[in-house]
Amino acid sequence: MELVIIGGGVVGLACAMVASESGIETILIEKHNNFGIETSSRNSEVIHSGIYYPENTLKAKLCVEANRNLYDWCEKYNIPHRRTGKFIIAIDDSELPELLKLYEQAKVNGVEGIELVDESIIKGEEPNIKAIAALWSPNTGIIDSHSLMNSYFQLAKEKGALFAFNHQVIGIKRYKSSYLLEVKDIGGNIFEIESKYIINSAGLNSDEIASLAGIDIKEAGYVLYYCKGSYFRLKPSKKGIVRHLIYPVPPANMTSLGIHVTLDLMGYVKFGPDVEYLNNRIKDYKVDEQAKEKFFLSVSRYLNNIEPDDLLPDQAGIRAKLQGPGMPYRDFIIKEESQRGLPGFINLIGIDSPGLTCSLEIAKLAVNYIN
Ligand SMILES: Cc1cc2nc3c(=O)[nH]c(=O)nc-3n(C[C@H](O)[C@H](O)[C@H](O)COP(=O)(O)OP(=O)(O)OC[C@H]3O[C@@H](n4cnc5c(N)ncnc54)[C@H](O)[C@@H]3O)c2cc1C
Repeated sequence: MELVIIGGGVVGLACAMVASESGIETILIEKHNNFGIETSSRNSEVIHSGIYYPENTLKAKLCVEANRNLYDWCEKYNIPHRRTGKFIIAIDDSELPELLKLYEQAKVNGVEGIELVDESIIKGEEPNIKAIAALWSPNTGIIDSHSLMNSYFQLAKEKGALFAFNHQVIGIKRYKSSYLLEVKDIGGNIFEIESKYIINSAGLNSDEIASLAGIDIKEAGYVLYYCKGSYFRLKPSKKGIVRHLIYPVPPANMTSLGIHVTLDLMGYVKFGPDVEYLNNRIKDYKVDEQAKEKFFLSVSRYLNNIEPDDLLPDQAGIRAKLQGPGMPYRDFIIKEESQRGLPGFINLIGIDSPGLTCSLEIAKLAVNYIN
């Protein structure tokens, strides 16, 4: 095999599609029985525009580019989506400096169409929102993530990529000028696949995969922290309470974008995600009903006409974060590991938000190491 991709989330699928379109003999190995079972189907499904990320980071550069390309992709392949636009709001004077900082950051990053608007505009567009000013981002939107993944999957299959679901990579060793991957199937049988190139897009397990290949992940700065984000949804009777996505100014440490108000493609309203670092690496997706009060208090600061009983527990996802609690901001890792004695081994680690938006751009960078 020329290329083995480990992990069938949105990023691995995009890699399979880009690689097979370039004529690279490709197999994707996924431990679940289908694609997109983990983080890629447990997120806000927002098409980000690239506002928040420090300049010259991969997140900033890829997201601005990805925003344009993803809308084109959606049109071309009939992926359900909506360019809803989003307001990032300052609730009071104390939040204005942070809002202005974001405005400057967005301009530096090259985000298109970004505008500062005053209270009257917000009131006109969103009568239920309390804010004194906002950033208007016209190109933020929402997407059906499953349809996006399916488009990558179908195109990859058409171009000859192979998919091995129910198979888990459990070992990797260098062998001549290739790699031998040890793979376990659902029946517990273990066999080996030889491949010249490997793309590690194993999401929450991508640091473990790097470690299996012999990388000292502590020394390399590749250790992941599991950061859970839960959502509550608003009762269907409250549909229409907002028409755009509404985000507060984010917390200073940028561990998240703050508990925000999102819409799904049917127009139903969701609140979240919050930030909860997990102490262990158990993928616990249970939403704690007790958190309802916290969600209500957080959102009712800026959204009128809701009561605590309007909130219902929804889903949770886990961010694969390189930034642990209290640590400085971290960028995506998209790296070919020749310098660590692993030529052709491409690590994609710490692909948290905006990884869904950037999936195609990440894949192009990763596959570029192979061509
Ligand atoms: C709460 C939350 C909200 C988010 N909101 C947004 C948003 O609005 N917009 C946005 O752009 N991004 C968002 N993101 C980020 C986005 O969801 C991720 O960046 C993206 O889904 C990462 O995709 P992935 O393919 O890297 O990982 P995953 O989807 O986790 O896929 C990795 C796959 O690897 C498989 N795997 C792991 N180990 C092995 C192994 N040993 N062998 C075989 N297979 C293996 C797993 O089973 C899994 O299927 C959000 C994330 C979270 C958690």
